[in-house]
Amino acid sequence: MLNSLYGVLPQDLESFFAKDFPAYRVRQLLNWVYRKFVFDPNQMTDLDQGFKSALEAAFDLSMPQIAEKHLSRDGSTKYRLVLADGDQIEMVLMPEGKKRTLCVSSQVGCARACAFCATARMKRRRNLHSHEIIQQILLAAQEADAPLTNLVFMGMGEPLDNLDNVLDALSLIQHQGTLAFSPRRATVSTCGIVPGIRRLADSKVKVKLAVSLNSARNEVRDVLMPVNKLYPLSTLKQSLLYYQKKSSFRITLEYILIPGMNMAAEDLKALRKFSGDLSCKINFIPYNPVPGLPHQAPSEDEIQQFMEKARELPQAVMLRRSKGADIAGACGQLVTGAAAKTTGENHAKD
Ligand code: SF4
Repeated sequence: MLNSLYGVLPQDLESFFAKDFPAYRVRQLLNWVYRKFVFDPNQMTDLDQGFKSALEAAFDLSMPQIAEKHLSRDGSTKYRLVLADGDQIEMVLMPEGKKRTLCVSSQVGCARACAFCATARMKRRRNLHSHEIIQQILLAAQEADAPLTNLVFMGMGEPLDNLDNVLDALSLIQHQGTLAFSPRRATVSTCGIVPGIRRLADSKVKVKLAVSLNSARNEVRDVLMPVNKLYPLSTLKQSLLYYQKKSSFRITLEYILIPGMNMAAEDLKALRKFSGDLSCKINFIPYNPVPGLPHQAPSEDEIQQFMEKARELPQAVMLRRSKGADIAGACGQLVTGAAAKTTGENHAKD
């Protein structure tokens, strides 16, 4: 089987073709793929036939199939993609003013079993290869009505459980010869994989970090996110302080509001204590119900009462409504395959 073209760094392509072709051929190719989002060599009109034949003999240029596309009332679009081996993933493209944010998947399924998440029902099937992450970005760039501005690893899977491939993909899209995507506009979101946070802090590849916190009380977080039993809050906090020391980026804490679980006065008190010495902002996200899971969405009154008190926290706090809830493309709703059927429809997480 041929290697996918989309996982290969520009300098490696140049070395590969250097013996038989001038370097500008590779630059032309990269221009088609990463600037014009054209993936069929037959449409790359300035490439000569000899180069095209050598290219197709050496690399696989095929892309995942878009099997389904759902447009939300809020303008976001959820895509279901079929990968080369038949596995399926989802991604969500979210427009907001001039911003075009893509929520990408990093795994097929997920092993982390968060109680509020539809993806968790799929269990983990496999990690995505770096080229499968890049293919999502390229397809979304081709589909979008304006250039992609932001990238968030908040789709299916735990990105820090697939950190090598996530870093390879980031390194490739940040390269000046491809998308020159700014590290400031890419965010990796984790459920709290402590060794991964430390590795990310030490990595040469820079990217922003978001942590799906959801509770600053171990007894609650243990229930919502089993990963907390492995890496409890004190350990997680140490890793965030380490990331903070090593990175110039401010951390984002994500906190899904689930009535009866994490919206009481004692929850805010614990959050104040946890976040006190962190340079972070906190996003509060009302829960999006997933059929088959027990949690309810908070009422508007519950949200407003909570936010009134949350605004007293010293950090910047934001109430963020998940996009794509009506197409099951919102936070915690992404799922494909048999698990999608058990939730009554296709559900996605952003
Ligand atoms: S919330 Fe993220 S880490 Fe948790 S189960 Fe879902 S995809 Fe995995």
